[in-house]
Amino acid sequence: MGKGLDQDVLDMVLSSMRDFARDHLAEGVLLEFDARNEMPMDLVRAMCAGELGIQLLFVDEEFGGMGGGAFDVYRVCEEMARVDLGVATGVLATFLGSDPIAVGGTPEQKRRWMSRIATEGLLMAYGATEPEAGSDLAALRTFATPVMEDGAVSGYRITGAKQWISNGGVADLFSILANTPGGPAWFVLDAGTPGLTAGKHEDKHGIRASNTAALSLQDCYVEADRLVGGVEGQGLLQAQAVFGYTRLMVAAFGLGAGWDALERAVRYSTVRSVSGGPLSEKQGFTHKLIVPHAARLEAARAYIEEIAARLDEREGTLNTEGAIAKYLATEAGNLAADAAIQAHGGYGYTREYMVEKIKRDVRITTIYEGTSEIMEMTIARDRWQSHLKTRGEHYRDQGRALERLDAAHPDSGAAVAGLAHQALAEVLERCRQQRLTRSQHVLLRLGELIAYTECAASLARRAIAAAEGRMHPKASRRLSADALAAMSRIFGREAALLVAENGMRWVCGAADVADTAGLMSELRLPAIHAAQAGLVADMDLAADEIYGRTTRPVGVPANAGAREHP
Ligand SMILES: Cc1cc2nc3c(=O)[nH]c(=O)nc-3n(C[C@H](O)[C@H](O)[C@H](O)COP(=O)(O)OP(=O)(O)OC[C@H]3O[C@@H](n4cnc5c(N)ncnc54)[C@H](O)[C@@H]3O)c2cc1C
Repeated sequence: MGKGLDQDVLDMVLSSMRDFARDHLAEGVLLEFDARNEMPMDLVRAMCAGELGIQLLFVDEEFGGMGGGAFDVYRVCEEMARVDLGVATGVLATFLGSDPIAVGGTPEQKRRWMSRIATEGLLMAYGATEPEAGSDLAALRTFATPVMEDGAVSGYRITGAKQWISNGGVADLFSILANTPGGPAWFVLDAGTPGLTAGKHEDKHGIRASNTAALSLQDCYVEADRLVGGVEGQGLLQAQAVFGYTRLMVAAFGLGAGWDALERAVRYSTVRSVSGGPLSEKQGFTHKLIVPHAARLEAARAYIEEIAARLDEREGTLNTEGAIAKYLATEAGNLAADAAIQAHGGYGYTREYMVEKIKRDVRITTIYEGTSEIMEMTIARDRWQSHLKTRGEHYRDQGRALERLDAAHPDSGAAVAGLAHQALAEVLERCRQQRLTRSQHVLLRLGELIAYTECAASLARRAIAAAEGRMHPKASRRLSADALAAMSRIFGREAALLVAENGMRWVCGAADVADTAGLMSELRLPAIHAAQAGLVADMDLAADEIYGRTTRPVGVPANAGAREHP
């Protein structure tokens, strides 16, 4: 990962992408590619080399790239997803494919391939998944047999099958995960390597403008210098080393696609008149189909931005945090796109309207780069350890920190986020006492509660930072500080209620709880119910902001808000 772009360079990249999309990827064009189940190869090539050169973002400066950091990548991925998730996936695949090299390659391997990606715009594919090994990559069966010459390994013969590989039928270069005698390892294969063949372009539910194909490897010979890092057995570690980063990218996809769908619903509702007025004036419409989705997406954004900044600070791999970001953003994006169809009524159910395509496209984000259930498991297992190691104080401490934050910033949503943390600590403690995490379902449901809780805290912090004018310099400034605070209060209430009520549900559902009233009070359910006061007024406020019905506070850019991307 690079050290990051200057802000004006990032702005230029984002604006070039918007120009490129306006000139080449108009709605009609995208709908056509979707209908024909066809990847716009020329356009993806133009994005990954020629006209746009987006691949430079992912390549370090020493190999001729721009050395973008995690924050840059998040902003660009969100923007790409607003255009088309299929096209964005074609670009993502090159990034994923080059990851093992960027992370684990020898200096010579990095020079050899990263500089070709930068200068020639090579398209890559990332070949990890197999017919029998998806979530459980350790079950992989593709095997690389060493070929010996004069007592040393001169090359490998690779045999096996890969499934659901993005760019599988069109890539110039492939990263292939295979078992070796020393354990799983990545190999770099050129297109055209004898024995390497791609299956048909899959007929998918969504992202139909991206090529997805199975790969067959029959005795494919590669020289030993194509073993990434030159040492067997490093493959899974190399894959895991970038999960924080790659999951952040898919999180940004969920965010971009979700907001795009929602903004379409917002625009539609201002011109669609029913029962004597536009839909945008109907509270029953906005407060169900727009506002809660906007709040969830902004909670995900707050978390994404915190993690991106921490990745850029080299704080570690942040795999669990990447999982939280991906989980919340992609689930929120999927729900928002579904609501956008509903918001369009019958029109939304037809292929002429982009929301129908976005809904099919965004669905993939809860599946690839780790399914939502695998994210729940990752999150729950890691934070469970934090709970145990701190003897239950992990979320209590954070809850107390939020209470202090609330004292200084009473309208930021920190108070109710604090309640969510305290309730979560109690749920986890009950699970420990009664050994409830032996139930896999309970464990995974904890993953959901944890993600909501942590994102509520992030949004409260972001609302405060916005109010104090100290957001990250590259942060998205689509909403005013007041709107962010309202969304923080809305989302915080949702998170706290989810934790307390679902906490009750799963604790009582898995254990024998004699004193349910006592548990309710330990989870602070009465306080969480009381904290719902003011929810509808906050939703009114958020709706007014989304629809540009507010007088903008001083210092907020005139183009902020939902109409930023017409
Ligand atoms: C369009 C598309 C593009 C893709 N691109 C790529 C790519 O470029 N490169 C690549 O390597 N892969 C790619 N994938 C593969 C993708 O990452 C996998 O499909 C995904 O990780 C899930 O694996 P699976 O399909 O084998 O499902 P499975 O692992 O079989 O999962 C099936 C279901 O079971 C659940 N599940 C799995 N394990 C558990 C468990 N232990 N406990 C409880 N529930 C569980 C899952 O959440 C899911 O709901 C792509 C997939 C698609 C559809």
